[in-house]
Amino acid sequence: MATELAVDGIPVTCNICGGTLFGAGPAGRLTTEGKPPHCMQCGSLERHRANRRIFESLPVGFLSWRRGLQFGPDLALSPVWFYRFEISIYGGANSLDLQRITRDDASYDFVSLSHVLEFVLDDHAAFRELLRILSPQGILHLVLSQANGRPNSLDFAAATGTHGYFHLYGRDFAERFRLRERDLHLLIVASRDPVTGAGEITHLIARAPAILASVRTALIAVQAIKSLFGPGDYREFAFE
Ligand SMILES: [Zn+2]
Repeated sequence: MATELAVDGIPVTCNICGGTLFGAGPAGRLTTEGKPPHCMQCGSLERHRANRRIFESLPVGFLSWRRGLQFGPDLALSPVWFYRFEISIYGGANSLDLQRITRDDASYDFVSLSHVLEFVLDDHAAFRELLRILSPQGILHLVLSQANGRPNSLDFAAATGTHGYFHLYGRDFAERFRLRERDLHLLIVASRDPVTGAGEITHLIARAPAILASVRTALIAVQAIKSLFGPGDYREFAFE
């Protein structure tokens, strides 16, 4: 069953497609506040819209010059934001092996994985490859499955769960992938889904600390003008 949502009498719309009807998520799931998370028009869930909220809150020029690569189709990012945008679909069109990415060094300025790294057997090889194809000004955008909800990452010898994951990441993500030793910087952004208000966590990794500092500054600045946006906008960001 699909319902309309409203905040202070203003209809809530999907920030990805403009849809106004929402239903239960996979397996009938509702948010912890009992709201339906699934956009009936574009199929987006909380994490897609919360991630889109981050990028649509940053200046247009932030992505317009970047060569983007996304592993797995994901509604959070719009290809038109980028100078170039390539999508790798596992087992499908343009499928790239994360453990051996057949692309040149430093050939992308933005690489995005949402609920993907969990499913790669040798995730350390995949991480090395991601760093290899990332340019000096590049950003690695990771959406991990509830990584803030567990202290330590878990590894599984065989594919586990209905979707077949090999890893579930925890708050030890930076140590696990030796970010400090590799001279990498991490910004964890907490954002909210504009439809349900549910909180989500995004990991941004870069070699250049100034990029992440600027993202942080821009997201703080946009909150200062949140009165320009609607009452259900939830343009709220926090950082770790
Ligand atoms: Zn939608």
